[in-house]
Amino acid sequence: MNDAFSRVLSLLFGLAVGAGLGWVIGRWIGASGWGVACGAAAGVALAASIDAVRAERLMTWLRGTQTQPAPRDTGFWGETGYRVEKALRGREQEAAAERERLAQFLAAIDASPNGVLLLDADERIEWCNARAADHFGLDPVRDQRQLVTNLLRAPAFVNHLQSAEYEAPIEFTSPRGRTTIQVIVRPYGAGQKLLLSQDVTDRERMESMRRDFVANVSHEIRTPLTVLAGFVDTLASVPLSATEQPRVLALMRQQTQRIQSLVDDLLTLAQLEGSPRPSSDQWLPGDALVARVFAEAELLSAGHHELSLDAQPGLDVAGIESELTSAMANLLGNAVRYTPDGGRIAVQWLLRAADGCAVFEVRDNGIGIAREHLPRLTERFYRVDGSRSRETGGTGLGLAIVKHVVQRHGGEIEMQSEPGKGSTFRLVLPAARVRVRAASDVKAQSVATPASLHRDR
Ligand code: ADP
Repeated sequence: MNDAFSRVLSLLFGLAVGAGLGWVIGRWIGASGWGVACGAAAGVALAASIDAVRAERLMTWLRGTQTQPAPRDTGFWGETGYRVEKALRGREQEAAAERERLAQFLAAIDASPNGVLLLDADERIEWCNARAADHFGLDPVRDQRQLVTNLLRAPAFVNHLQSAEYEAPIEFTSPRGRTTIQVIVRPYGAGQKLLLSQDVTDRERMESMRRDFVANVSHEIRTPLTVLAGFVDTLASVPLSATEQPRVLALMRQQTQRIQSLVDDLLTLAQLEGSPRPSSDQWLPGDALVARVFAEAELLSAGHHELSLDAQPGLDVAGIESELTSAMANLLGNAVRYTPDGGRIAVQWLLRAADGCAVFEVRDNGIGIAREHLPRLTERFYRVDGSRSRETGGTGLGLAIVKHVVQRHGGEIEMQSEPGKGSTFRLVLPAARVRVRAASDVKAQSVATPASLHRDR
C-alpha cells in the first residue's frame, strides 16, 4: 500500500516537475498564456514518456534471459529492476547449489562398487551408474527412457521383474556373457524401482572351488578308508596265514600313510594360507638348504637314479626355511617319482645374472608332461596320471603347495616339459630376497630362460 502511494506520489511529482518546467520555460521565452499552458503540457508528456521508456526497458530485460544486469534506473522502475534481479540471482544460486548437491550425490552413487539402476513406473530407465551400465550392458545416455526389458532379455531377470516378489535376489549371466550378476529389486515412490546389482562371479567361483575341494578331499580320504575297512572286516572274519599277514599289514600301512600324507599336505596348505607374508630380512644359507633337500632325495631314490647337484656357495635367500625346503623337496620328490629307474636328475641352485633372481632348478629325463596339462598342474588335486601319482604316494597337492610358497616369497614357478623326454621345474626367487654372501668368491652364473616356458605365479 505504501509502495502504491509512493508510486502515485512519484508519478505526480514527475508530472508536476514536467509541468512546472514547461511553464517556467514558456514564461521565460515570453510566450502567451496558451504557450505557457502548451509548455506545461509538453513537460507532462516528456515526464510520462521518460517513465514509459524506463518501464519498457525493464520489460525488455524481463522478457529476455536476464543474463545482463537489470537497467540501472533511478526511482520506481530502477528499484523494481534491482529487486527483481536480486530475487532472480538468489534463485539461480539456490538452483546451482541444488544442482551441485545432486551432482555430488550422483557421483557418490557412481563411485559405489554396486550397480544402481532407477526405473520409472513403466519400467523405463531413468538413471543408472557406470557399474550398472557395465553389469546390464547398457549405455547410460543412449538407453535413457528405454524399456529395461527391451534391452535386458535374460528370462530370469524379466520374470523376476514382472513377478513383483522382490524379497530374494536373483542371479543371471550378464549380457556380455562373462560374469554372473546378482540383482536386488526394491520398489519405491509411485511405482518406481531401484535395482542394485553386484558382480558375484568371483564369489561363485570361490564357492564352486570350495565345493570341489571338499568333494576332492572326501574322495581322497574315502578310497584308502574303504580299503582299510575291507581289511579290517577280513581280519575280523578270516584268520590270516603267516604268509598273508605281512602283505596285508603292508597294504594297510600304505593306505594309512596315504591318509597321513593327505592330512599333512592339507594342514601345510591351511597354514600357508593363514600365516603372514615371510619377512625379507630372515636370511637362510641357500646352498645348505638345497644340500639337505638333495640328501633326502637321494634317500628317496635309493640309488635308482643318477642324481647331481650344482649349488652356488654363498647364495642366501630371505624367507621361511620350512616353507622353502618343503617347496624344493616337493619338486625334487616329483622328479624322483616321475622318472623311471636309471633316469637322470640334475639339481641347480644359482644366481641368475640377467635379473639377480635365485633359481632352484630340478631337471629330469623322466616321463614328462603334455603341454596342455602345464597350466593346470598347480591346481589342487590336479594330476596327469592319477594312478601313478597315488602309487608313488602322491596327494595331488605338492605343486599347489610349491605355488603358494613361491607366491608368498614374491617369486614364480617355471615349468618346461615334453612327454617321454623329461621335465624342468624352476623355483625363481626375486632379487629382493637374494644376497650373495662373499661377493668376491662367488661368480654369477647364468641360467637360461627360454621363451617356451610356462610360468605359474
Ligand atoms: P602329486 O602328488 O600327484 O605328485 P603334484 O601336485 O606334486 O601332485 O603334481 C601334480 C601332477 O604333476 C602329478 O600328478 C604329475 O602328473 C605331474 N608332475 C609333477 N612333477 C612331474 C615330473 N617331474 N614329471 C612328470 N610329471 C610330473
